[in-house]
Amino acid sequence: MKVLVWNENEHEKQEPIIEEIYPGRLHGYIANFLRSDDVEVSTATLDDPECGLTEEVLAETDVLIWWGHIAHKNVPDEVVERVHKHVLGGMGLIVLHSGHFSKIFKKLMGTTCSLKWRDHTRERVWTIMPNHPIAEGVDETFVLEDEEMYGEPFDIAKPDEVIFLSWFNGGEVFRSGCTWTRGHGKIFYFQPGHETNTAFQNANVQRIIKNAVKWACPVRKNIEIICPKFMPLENVEG
Ligand code: ZN
Repeated sequence: MKVLVWNENEHEKQEPIIEEIYPGRLHGYIANFLRSDDVEVSTATLDDPECGLTEEVLAETDVLIWWGHIAHKNVPDEVVERVHKHVLGGMGLIVLHSGHFSKIFKKLMGTTCSLKWRDHTRERVWTIMPNHPIAEGVDETFVLEDEEMYGEPFDIAKPDEVIFLSWFNGGEVFRSGCTWTRGHGKIFYFQPGHETNTAFQNANVQRIIKNAVKWACPVRKNIEIICPKFMPLENVEG
């Protein structure tokens, strides 16, 4: 399985503390905990030509992980179109935290993806679909002592599944782990992962992202669905 971790890599240039929390920066840290005998992981950032998301790279990618925040607008529209085409063709997509406002997630949802927001809260995540593959081995509930509150209403397309639901110490609730399919591609959004907090160090969070990669991995990718073919009856044997 080939996984590509994409990070805009902008906060890291302004806040050295992030490298202390996440050695290798967000993309390097996530890639390191995902890497295994079965999972080949590479990384790409906004600094790479074409954001590191060329046709060749995407055609080889089974699952793309997306972390972005302050530079969504710097991702060129043609790159977003290319990623969109590959999701429809079967590539899995996992959108983390502030990636909710990325161009690609908004395009796939067809909504504003807006939400309520406050920094430095205590979050309790509840696993509400314990039999879902993304919840395998994940605790029924776990706490992130310092995480950013994302609250409802979360303006997303109606999810196929809500696997995780979060509660914050301001009383807010949030659909923190949701799935969709678009075309032949599976999509998972997961809310924890603010750049200066420690969510990605949490064993349950790591388990969820590993499970999501497995879940989103396509059986078949690069499926052409843009131009449906008319099939004359004489060409069909029956
Ligand atoms: Zn954040």
